[in-house]
Amino acid sequence: MNIAKLKIASFDFTCCEGCQLQLANRESTLSDFLELLDIRNFREILSEKHDDYDIALIEGSISRQDEVERLLKIREQAKVLVAFGTCACFGGINSLKNRFRMDETVREIYGDMAIETLPVKKISDVVKVDLSIPGCPVAKEEVERIIVSLATSSLVTLPKYPVCVECKQQLNTCLFDLGEICLGPITRAGCNAVCPTGKTACLGCRGPAEELNMPAFLELVRERKLSHSDLQEKLAFYNAFEPVATDET
Ligand code: SF4
Ligand code: SF4
Ligand code: SF4
Repeated sequence: MNIAKLKIASFDFTCCEGCQLQLANRESTLSDFLELLDIRNFREILSEKHDDYDIALIEGSISRQDEVERLLKIREQAKVLVAFGTCACFGGINSLKNRFRMDETVREIYGDMAIETLPVKKISDVVKVDLSIPGCPVAKEEVERIIVSLATSSLVTLPKYPVCVECKQQLNTCLFDLGEICLGPITRAGCNAVCPTGKTACLGCRGPAEELNMPAFLELVRERKLSHSDLQEKLAFYNAFEPVATDET
């Protein structure tokens, strides 16, 4: 099939750039993947920069005024703007700073140096987002699948079900049975349950599953007499669960 190459650009904002690196590091499929793409801007992959692109991958959250202005310009150019990774989709780990008083924190870290910083925002707080690909970092296979869908004008989908489905498929022992709170029951699948498979609780980096049952999840935490503050800490970690938070959380 003859597919027109997608003019794509990737831009990083406040983040660790781990999501862009995920894409660039997948050597086994990178050359096939690049066949689909006309890369116009992508710091990790090429040094040239061009301003004409159709798809913009936006990595990171927004924490300075100059980032707001840069993002608005990208929005004007891009036909499809993608929030790429958890920082972009939800604010991510950077949002932890919103819990502290900025003036005191800046003074503590930088002393008298002038530092410009804003409370962290997710990309959709600033511009319209056409598509969100969550994950800290994103799952490479999922990104490739989505880019192929865009290139072939096919429907773009993310799993609606929670991480527990993938975790059960791997025959893992449930961390709730080991006395830990895991956010797998309420988090969108698509990472192949990488954390619980490694015996670490899911902290919900992929955000809320569409098919989630929050009351049942909260009942499970209560029934097991697990710590409410631990639950709150985990729910707040990536700033991803605000939209589904209830009075009980
Ligand atoms: S989502 Fe995670 S891996 Fe991606 S840029 Fe943010 S902190 Fe880094
Ligand atoms: S360990 Fe977490 S993801 Fe796995 S089944 Fe238990 S709650 Fe679900
Ligand atoms: S298990 Fe949870 S925290 Fe870990 S990658 Fe998957 S969604 Fe993110």
